[in-house]
Amino acid sequence: MFRVGLGYDIHRLTEGRDLIIGGVKITHEKGLLGHSDADVLVHALIDALLGAVGLDDIGTLFPDTDPKYKDADSTKLLKHVIYEVAKLGYKIVNIDSNIIAQAPKMMPYIPKMKTILADVAGLEPGQISIKAKTKEKLDAVGEGLAIEANAVVLLTKD
Ligand SMILES: [Zn+2]
Repeated sequence: MFRVGLGYDIHRLTEGRDLIIGGVKITHEKGLLGHSDADVLVHALIDALLGAVGLDDIGTLFPDTDPKYKDADSTKLLKHVIYEVAKLGYKIVNIDSNIIAQAPKMMPYIPKMKTILADVAGLEPGQISIKAKTKEKLDAVGEGLAIEANAVVLLTKD
């Protein structure tokens, strides 16, 4: 049996924060604003996994009112969700995703993101696709005010 899940996230860019995407610290004058480390790609991936198995979404599972998740490493939250998904008997077939950012360039960081996410999820890097897009200078993301991510995941169960 197969299940598919879709995740989306957006965070505002602000000064005085580290920019962490896909578990990688990226050199930039701004970072993403959020209660946790605001890792937009990992959050989209978590919601895709939760959606695929029909569990509550990330905001319900890890509320931003809970001090426990202040500046939380989102890859740790991902590890927890992958454990929950595995408990239900599902394995990840593949992950596809987009990071949508006007700046900085994501391309140089993508191999490292794949290695980190593959390690957290117990996958081969080849099972994970991360694509970098811009917004052609349109809307809030295009104006450099925010970064968005989409993710889809396919799960299988014997
Ligand atoms: Zn988020």
